[in-house]
Amino acid sequence: MARARRATVEEQTPRLDLPSRVHSVLDLVGHTPLVDVTALAPGLSPRVRLLAKLEGFNPGGSVKDRPALWMVRHGLTSGALRAGKTILDSTSGNTGIALAMIGAALAYPVVLVLPENVSEERKRIITAFGARMIFSSGLEGSDGAIRLCRQILEKEPGSYFKPDQYFNPVNPLAHYESTGPEIWEATNGSVTHFVAGIGTGGTVMGTGRYLKERNPKIQVVAAEPDDALHGLEGLKHMASSIVPGIYHEDQLDGKIPVPTDAAYELVYQLGTRLGLVVGQSSGAALFAALQVAHDLAEGVVVVIFCDFGDRYLSTNLWLGWAEWLEKRRVRGTQPGTAEDRSGRSRRAQSK
Ligand code: PMP
Repeated sequence: MARARRATVEEQTPRLDLPSRVHSVLDLVGHTPLVDVTALAPGLSPRVRLLAKLEGFNPGGSVKDRPALWMVRHGLTSGALRAGKTILDSTSGNTGIALAMIGAALAYPVVLVLPENVSEERKRIITAFGARMIFSSGLEGSDGAIRLCRQILEKEPGSYFKPDQYFNPVNPLAHYESTGPEIWEATNGSVTHFVAGIGTGGTVMGTGRYLKERNPKIQVVAAEPDDALHGLEGLKHMASSIVPGIYHEDQLDGKIPVPTDAAYELVYQLGTRLGLVVGQSSGAALFAALQVAHDLAEGVVVVIFCDFGDRYLSTNLWLGWAEWLEKRRVRGTQPGTAEDRSGRSRRAQSK
């Protein structure tokens, strides 16, 4: 039997017109800032700018708030999501967290199917939003969660709404309608290159399509893990993966393979040199953006930083970080100092 839905914040409280006040957490999705990270790459032409869009400022903490919100809203307008239904998906990553947050704000129950060995901090964030978790075998990884999710859906198809981010065109549409216009406006139309990592491909496809419509000369470049076995959470190595239905490689101007250790190194540099602690996929996107920027005499390169680093405290990224700092301590080099920087740029050049 369909359960009565609890009233949403919107339904319970009238909107008040006050400055600097938003009505719901969902009004905070998007409008993220661009920060200048050009200082990280001393060898660039003085007429090149490197700007990072900080998606960690979204209320759910990542770029995935945008497509999750768009897909849920689209479900509501199409009627696929209605009172009595539960939002169901099989993602332990940022999309799961975004769906859990949005479900809480809109008073829809959320069930996420996850491999049992997903990190403790992920489980805690999802629980904090009141979402329910069903665990699949840790040995079967994310494919096991996908299969279990399918079985649950097949048993009771009428009970659930599944956003299906890999095949749902509303995923890139979210970026076409929000990320793209934000970048265009924030750069006064001066952006020349756009770089983003590929997971579902929603960000690079949707944002790229919008920017190219505004100026066909804008180059759209994807960052991809260089190997099937990588440590770049959130990103996909396409050659060894099921290719998402929304991903169309022919619409990209280029794709840059990124080694995991090079991405981690850049994350550590961003933290110690710019005071910006981001996730490993941001390091990967930055690696690609630096390659693009180094080849330019002039231009404005915009790169997406998908989330902040504090959600990876129990991953290899953080463990590697501790080792990295320790090595510098033993060598007597303070991270972020001129001596440290010169050592690192020598190593970067020799790669
Ligand atoms: N980085 C992180 C941390 C992510 O969670 C994701 C989404 N899987 C991406 C990058 C890639 O974004 P997209 O799915 O839009 O390609």
